[in-house]
Amino acid sequence: MKCVLCNLRKGKRFCPAKRALICAQCCGEKRVVEIDCPESCQYLVVGRAHEAEAESARHLLSSDPRKREARARVLERFEPVVARLEYVVGQRRRAARDLKDSDVAEALDLLLATYRTEDKGVLYEHTAGGGVVEALRRELRDAVESMRHPKDGRFDSLRLADAIACLEFIRDLVASHIEARRSPSSYVDFLLRMVPRESAADRAPLIVVPGQS
Ligand SMILES: [Zn+2]
Ligand SMILES: [Zn+2]
Repeated sequence: MKCVLCNLRKGKRFCPAKRALICAQCCGEKRVVEIDCPESCQYLVVGRAHEAEAESARHLLSSDPRKREARARVLERFEPVVARLEYVVGQRRRAARDLKDSDVAEALDLLLATYRTEDKGVLYEHTAGGGVVEALRRELRDAVESMRHPKDGRFDSLRLADAIACLEFIRDLVASHIEARRSPSSYVDFLLRMVPRESAADRAPLIVVPGQS
Protein backbone atom coordinates (compact mmCIF):
# COMPACT_ATOMS: atom_id res chain seq x y z
CA MET A 1 0.00 0.00 0.00
CA LYS A 2 1.30 3.43 -0.89
CA CYS A 3 1.86 6.26 1.59
CA VAL A 4 -1.34 8.36 1.79
CA LEU A 5 0.69 11.58 1.95
CA CYS A 6 3.07 11.36 -1.01
CA ASN A 7 1.39 8.51 -2.86
CA LEU A 8 4.89 7.55 -4.06
CA ARG A 9 6.65 5.37 -1.52
CA LYS A 10 5.47 2.37 0.38
CA GLY A 11 3.48 3.16 3.54
CA LYS A 12 5.23 1.37 6.38
CA ARG A 13 4.27 3.34 9.47
CA PHE A 14 0.80 3.60 10.92
CA CYS A 15 0.22 7.31 11.54
CA PRO A 16 -2.30 7.85 14.37
CA ALA A 17 -3.13 11.36 13.12
CA LYS A 18 -3.87 10.25 9.54
CA ARG A 19 -5.19 6.85 10.67
CA ALA A 20 -3.37 5.38 7.68
CA LEU A 21 -0.01 4.05 6.59
CA ILE A 22 2.61 6.62 5.68
CA CYS A 23 6.22 6.30 4.55
CA ALA A 24 9.22 6.93 6.81
CA GLN A 25 10.31 9.97 4.83
CA CYS A 26 6.94 11.75 5.10
CA CYS A 27 6.76 10.83 8.77
CA GLY A 28 10.20 12.34 9.40
CA GLU A 29 9.74 15.50 7.36
CA LYS A 30 6.11 16.32 7.99
CA ARG A 31 5.69 15.35 11.62
CA VAL A 32 4.19 18.20 13.67
CA VAL A 33 4.95 20.66 10.84
CA GLU A 34 2.21 19.29 8.54
CA ILE A 35 0.80 16.39 10.53
CA ASP A 36 -1.05 16.99 13.77
CA CYS A 37 0.79 14.17 15.55
CA PRO A 38 -0.47 13.17 18.97
CA GLU A 39 2.31 13.53 21.57
CA SER A 40 1.90 9.82 22.27
CA CYS A 41 2.99 8.71 18.78
CA GLN A 42 6.06 6.50 19.24
CA TYR A 43 7.56 7.64 15.92
CA LEU A 44 7.36 11.21 17.23
CA VAL A 45 8.93 10.33 20.58
CA VAL A 46 11.78 8.32 19.09
CA GLY A 47 12.25 10.72 16.19
CA ARG A 48 12.62 13.71 18.52
CA ALA A 49 15.27 11.93 20.56
CA HIS A 50 17.27 11.02 17.45
CA GLU A 51 16.95 14.46 15.95
CA ALA A 52 18.02 16.20 19.17
CA GLU A 53 21.07 13.97 19.43
CA ALA A 54 22.10 14.46 15.81
CA GLU A 55 21.57 18.21 16.10
CA SER A 56 23.67 18.68 19.20
CA ALA A 57 26.48 16.50 17.80
CA ARG A 58 26.45 18.56 14.62
CA HIS A 59 26.74 21.81 16.54
CA LEU A 60 29.80 20.80 18.45
CA LEU A 61 31.55 20.36 15.12
CA SER A 62 33.61 23.31 14.05
CA SER A 63 37.00 23.56 12.42
CA ASP A 64 37.81 26.40 14.81
CA PRO A 65 38.91 24.94 18.18
CA ARG A 66 38.06 28.19 20.01
CA LYS A 67 34.50 27.97 18.70
CA ARG A 68 34.23 24.32 19.65
CA GLU A 69 35.31 25.16 23.18
CA ALA A 70 32.95 28.12 23.47
CA ARG A 71 30.01 26.02 22.23
CA ALA A 72 30.78 23.18 24.62
CA ARG A 73 30.93 25.69 27.48
CA VAL A 74 27.56 27.19 26.55
CA LEU A 75 25.97 23.73 26.32
CA GLU A 76 27.47 22.65 29.60
CA ARG A 77 26.55 25.73 31.63
CA PHE A 78 23.63 27.33 29.85
CA GLU A 79 21.67 24.59 28.16
CA PRO A 80 18.42 25.65 29.94
CA VAL A 81 18.92 29.22 28.67
CA VAL A 82 19.44 28.01 25.10
CA ALA A 83 16.42 25.70 25.46
CA ARG A 84 14.25 28.57 26.65
CA LEU A 85 15.28 30.81 23.76
CA GLU A 86 14.72 28.00 21.28
CA TYR A 87 11.31 27.42 22.83
CA VAL A 88 10.46 31.08 22.11
CA VAL A 89 11.51 30.64 18.47
CA GLY A 90 9.55 27.38 18.17
CA GLN A 91 6.41 29.04 19.55
CA ARG A 92 6.79 31.94 17.11
CA ARG A 93 7.13 29.43 14.25
CA ARG A 94 3.92 27.77 15.38
CA ALA A 95 2.11 31.13 15.35
CA ALA A 96 3.71 32.42 12.13
CA ARG A 97 3.89 29.66 9.57
CA ASP A 98 5.90 31.84 7.19
CA LEU A 99 8.76 32.38 9.67
CA LYS A 100 12.11 31.66 8.01
CA ASP A 101 15.56 30.91 9.35
CA SER A 102 16.71 34.23 7.91
CA ASP A 103 14.13 36.07 10.08
CA VAL A 104 15.54 34.39 13.16
CA ALA A 105 19.06 35.37 12.10
CA GLU A 106 17.95 38.98 11.67
CA ALA A 107 16.19 39.12 15.06
CA LEU A 108 19.26 37.62 16.77
CA ASP A 109 21.63 40.04 15.02
CA LEU A 110 19.58 43.00 16.25
CA LEU A 111 19.48 41.67 19.79
CA LEU A 112 23.20 40.90 19.74
CA ALA A 113 23.93 44.41 18.46
CA THR A 114 21.88 45.84 21.34
CA TYR A 115 23.60 43.73 23.99
CA ARG A 116 27.12 44.28 22.61
CA THR A 117 26.42 48.01 22.72
CA GLU A 118 25.20 47.68 26.31
CA ASP A 119 28.34 45.70 27.13
CA LYS A 120 30.31 48.80 26.12
CA GLY A 121 28.20 50.90 28.47
CA VAL A 122 25.81 52.42 25.95
CA LEU A 123 22.07 51.72 26.03
CA TYR A 124 20.64 51.68 22.54
CA GLU A 125 17.96 49.28 21.35
CA HIS A 126 18.39 48.09 17.77
CA THR A 127 14.95 47.31 16.32
CA ALA A 128 13.46 46.00 13.08
CA GLY A 129 10.73 48.34 11.85
CA GLY A 130 8.00 45.74 12.35
CA GLY A 131 6.71 42.44 11.11
CA VAL A 132 7.69 38.98 12.20
CA VAL A 133 11.36 39.86 12.81
CA GLU A 134 10.43 42.59 15.28
CA ALA A 135 7.86 40.37 17.03
CA LEU A 136 10.45 37.64 17.47
CA ARG A 137 13.15 40.10 18.53
CA ARG A 138 10.90 41.42 21.30
CA GLU A 139 9.97 37.95 22.50
CA LEU A 140 13.62 36.91 22.62
CA ARG A 141 14.57 40.15 24.38
CA ASP A 142 11.80 39.62 26.98
CA ALA A 143 12.99 36.07 27.59
CA VAL A 144 16.61 37.21 28.01
CA GLU A 145 15.59 40.10 30.26
CA SER A 146 13.50 37.83 32.49
CA MET A 147 16.57 35.61 32.94
CA ARG A 148 18.87 38.57 33.57
CA HIS A 149 16.49 39.91 36.21
CA PRO A 150 14.64 36.90 37.69
CA LYS A 151 11.72 37.91 39.88
CA ASP A 152 12.00 35.15 42.45
CA GLY A 153 15.30 34.12 43.95
CA ARG A 154 15.15 30.56 42.64
CA PHE A 155 17.42 31.25 39.69
CA ASP A 156 20.75 33.02 39.47
CA SER A 157 20.56 36.04 37.23
CA LEU A 158 22.09 35.58 33.81
CA ARG A 159 25.14 37.79 33.24
CA LEU A 160 25.19 40.00 30.16
CA ALA A 161 28.33 38.30 28.77
CA ASP A 162 26.69 34.89 29.18
CA ALA A 163 23.46 36.09 27.55
CA ILE A 164 25.57 37.24 24.58
CA ALA A 165 27.35 33.86 24.46
CA CYS A 166 23.99 32.03 24.39
CA LEU A 167 22.61 34.28 21.64
CA GLU A 168 25.82 33.79 19.63
CA PHE A 169 25.48 30.04 20.10
CA ILE A 170 21.96 30.07 18.65
CA ARG A 171 23.04 32.46 15.90
CA ASP A 172 25.69 29.90 14.88
CA LEU A 173 23.05 27.15 14.84
CA VAL A 174 20.88 29.23 12.52
CA ALA A 175 23.89 29.94 10.29
CA SER A 176 24.71 26.24 10.00
CA HIS A 177 21.13 25.49 8.96
CA ILE A 178 21.19 28.31 6.40
CA GLU A 179 24.54 27.08 5.04
CA ALA A 180 23.23 23.51 4.70
CA ARG A 181 20.51 24.89 2.35
CA ARG A 182 18.07 22.09 3.05
CA SER A 183 15.10 24.42 3.28
CA PRO A 184 14.62 28.13 4.15
CA SER A 185 12.87 27.01 7.34
CA SER A 186 15.13 24.11 8.31
CA TYR A 187 16.00 25.38 11.80
CA VAL A 188 12.55 26.72 12.70
CA ASP A 189 10.91 23.51 11.46
CA PHE A 190 13.33 21.50 13.59
CA LEU A 191 12.27 23.55 16.63
CA LEU A 192 8.60 23.19 15.75
CA ARG A 193 8.98 19.40 15.64
CA MET A 194 10.91 19.37 18.92
CA VAL A 195 8.77 21.60 21.13
CA PRO A 196 5.78 19.80 22.65
CA ARG A 197 2.39 21.30 21.83
CA GLU A 198 0.44 23.25 24.45
CA SER A 199 -2.31 20.64 24.46
CA ALA A 200 0.28 18.26 25.83
CA ALA A 201 1.51 20.68 28.49
CA ASP A 202 0.23 18.41 31.24
CA ARG A 203 2.57 15.69 30.06
CA ALA A 204 6.22 15.62 31.04
CA PRO A 205 7.90 18.50 29.22
CA LEU A 206 10.89 17.65 27.01
CA ILE A 207 12.50 20.99 27.57
CA VAL A 208 13.00 22.48 31.02
CA VAL A 209 12.08 26.12 30.90
CA PRO A 210 13.73 28.11 33.68
CA GLY A 211 11.37 30.48 35.45
CA GLN A 212 8.28 28.71 34.18
CA SER A 213 8.45 25.50 36.15
ZN1 LIG B 1 5.14 9.45 1.92
ZN1 LIG C 1 3.41 10.09 14.16
